[in-house]
Amino acid sequence: MPIETKPQIDALINVIVLLRPEWNRAGVFSVLKKAHEEGNPLLLRPFEDIVVACTRKAADPKTRGPAPLLMEGRHWDTNGSGPAPNVHPDTGYDTTVPVEPCPDHEGWSAHNCGGCAADILAGLRPPEYKGLPYDPHKHGRVS
Ligand SMILES: [Zn+2]
Repeated sequence: MPIETKPQIDALINVIVLLRPEWNRAGVFSVLKKAHEEGNPLLLRPFEDIVVACTRKAADPKTRGPAPLLMEGRHWDTNGSGPAPNVHPDTGYDTTVPVEPCPDHEGWSAHNCGGCAADILAGLRPPEYKGLPYDPHKHGRVS
């Protein structure tokens, strides 16, 4: 079901403005209204697709204003279940967020390093050194 009710419009505008507080409700509403008046076929998509697409576009820091929300683009490539364009398909992490690499384990990010986690489980690294450089000879062994 496409957008049919005012509560749907309000909910959509609410989530967009929550993501982009610098956009005002009237501006987002006028984008929706204009698309409706022009008979934009994207508005005939199911409401959930419209919400997902607009949410993706609004969450993209490269989107400067609400105008592109209802333009064709990758943010509409939903297929009902596909990952958002900025989400890594394996990790599910947003690839637009800069990730600090683990200094001791190449290919892992510091905040969720599997190498550090394994070292900690094996008693080779103190937990407070997760994602930080650790040299057992310099820092002393884990007791
Ligand atoms: Zn690590």
